[in-house]
Amino acid sequence: MPEIFRAARIAPMTPGWPLLEDAAVVVHDQEILDVGYFADLRRTHSGPVRDLGEVTLAPATFNSHLHLEMSHLLGRTRPGQGFVPWVESLLAQDLYALDEPQVRRELARLESRGCAFVADISTRNAPRLAAILAESGLFFVSFLESIGSATPVDEAALLPQIPAAAESGRGACAAAGHALYSTSAELLRAAKAASAAQGLPFSLHLAEHADEDAILLSGQGAFLDLLRQRGFIKDYAAPGSRPVPLAARLGLLDEATLCVHCVTIPDEDIALLAATRASVCLCPRSNEHIGVGQAPLRKLLDAGINVCLGTDGLCSNVDLDPLAELAWLAGRQGRGLSLCEGLALVTANPARFFGLADRLGSLAPGRAARFSVLPKAVLEAFSESI
Ligand SMILES: [Zn+2]
Repeated sequence: MPEIFRAARIAPMTPGWPLLEDAAVVVHDQEILDVGYFADLRRTHSGPVRDLGEVTLAPATFNSHLHLEMSHLLGRTRPGQGFVPWVESLLAQDLYALDEPQVRRELARLESRGCAFVADISTRNAPRLAAILAESGLFFVSFLESIGSATPVDEAALLPQIPAAAESGRGACAAAGHALYSTSAELLRAAKAASAAQGLPFSLHLAEHADEDAILLSGQGAFLDLLRQRGFIKDYAAPGSRPVPLAARLGLLDEATLCVHCVTIPDEDIALLAATRASVCLCPRSNEHIGVGQAPLRKLLDAGINVCLGTDGLCSNVDLDPLAELAWLAGRQGRGLSLCEGLALVTANPARFFGLADRLGSLAPGRAARFSVLPKAVLEAFSESI
């Protein structure tokens, strides 16, 4: 029998529907049958009513970029001093020592906070993490991140086949590239091609910090020296281009690519990025933690770019909760941003990018009955625009 969930407010995140007061969602067999004002739905649907009270109900959230394999690094990196000191503190750790119990705890915490999807980036542990994600209740993409210059001949080394991911019915494995300065053009193209061949998304850290611009433009900088010392880069010739034009020239940007960070992006590159139809994932608390500045959110939205939100890993953040990320962002860049525009960054926009808009990202008939309850911090951050 259907159940009627009543809430003081519902944000359906469907076009043309604002925040509904005294509203309800009708749920049957873990699927949404109907959404609307409680008084209307009470007349048209039978079934028990569960009154959730004075809450704002929203679609379950997406975390569009995190690094689960670095969960054990919480509180162990150097904050606020820029990218090179942060990387130095990162490289002093046992980076890829996957702590499986902690990962499972983090995933359970995410589900309990109304998160329904994660896009995980893993350099060394992608097959294991895909299996762990398949055991969770989350929808997911498990990206295997390529880094360095050795391009494998075997495609499975770029994009692992993990049967448990597909069998879960909630996930997929895909290929990612680390960044333009750390990964050769040939390897980035091969990873993009491996994902594209199967209609899968591709992810790339892009325009994250000023050191990235310096390395690509002039081939100089403290960060490049560090990469050379550590053996990540040997014979480096600067392409003499900013990140976005270079990624476009390499054929890495299209509607299936998620560009992560986009902090150091001038106006002309925003227009170029919009023309490629690539999506962008911001990680504002990670950018703050590392001390690299903030992405121009308003300009990206005004250019028509599909913007999503991620937390990055616990090596540069304090939790993995998309709603905590949204509250932080709205508290600093929320001026002129409506609650629905903000919520779209963790619901409708990533649902569109990851091809899940018919299951998640909005509250409408036929969608999965997965919800989040907006915490006080989000409501307060948007209080002027509600
Ligand atoms: Zn990242």
